[in-house]
Amino acid sequence: MIIIILGAPASGKGSVAEILSKELDIPSMSSGDIFRKYISEGGEIGKLADSYISKGNLVPDDVTMKIITSRLMEDDLKNGVILDGFPRTIYQAEELDKFLHANGKKVNIVVCLKSNVDEVLTRILNRRICPKCDAIYNTVLTPPKVDGICDKCGSTLIQRDDDTILKARNRLKVYHKQTKPITKYYKEKGILVYKLLSERAGRMKDIVAKEIIEHLNELEKKD
Ligand code: ADP
Ligand code: ZN
Repeated sequence: MIIIILGAPASGKGSVAEILSKELDIPSMSSGDIFRKYISEGGEIGKLADSYISKGNLVPDDVTMKIITSRLMEDDLKNGVILDGFPRTIYQAEELDKFLHANGKKVNIVVCLKSNVDEVLTRILNRRICPKCDAIYNTVLTPPKVDGICDKCGSTLIQRDDDTILKARNRLKVYHKQTKPITKYYKEKGILVYKLLSERAGRMKDIVAKEIIEHLNELEKKD
């Protein structure tokens, strides 16, 4: 089972991926988290990725494909994965299709989160992440129990370097130009693109997860 979660920065891809991962018992993979791990390790790949991410631009396709496909080949993701933040360009989508095809798999469903600019910018400014376990908090909507401390592991929460208004605006531009066209790409391939209001996904997590699972069951019946 391959599920893609598509959406603007801070549209809630991570939380939808988390709900589905729990409900379907399929691991999720966040390309952003993978890049941030490389950056924190301080090696060559990390430095290169940082030079793009810190400006709010995408990491080049060739680097992204190399890193992500090698992650996808690891044992824990072999039976299925929920992709959060990947693919982000048509090229990546095409390359992913080739990769999956070679392994006898295909994309099953694309969940596309719809959000408006103000909502996303507010969420970006209120977002705090745990550098250790990748948990995500919103200081207004889903604050941690103790201010500034991760509920799950007790680490001090941080704000991402790219979660500033200027960089966020650039990331939104990049999303509209390079990532949004992917929905059309999948539609044309006959893959179900399930549109979801991000605000609704945040409010009614269980209902939304159920709806997506129902769609998946129907797809399986058709196959
Ligand atoms: P968000 O969805 O809030 O922007 P992510 O954690 O998904 O956050 O991504 C953070 C940054 O990592 C992106 O702005 C981009 O620079 C880089 N990145 C993540 N995934 C990809 C990808 N598939 N291709 C290129 N760059 C990526
Ligand atoms: Zn934590």
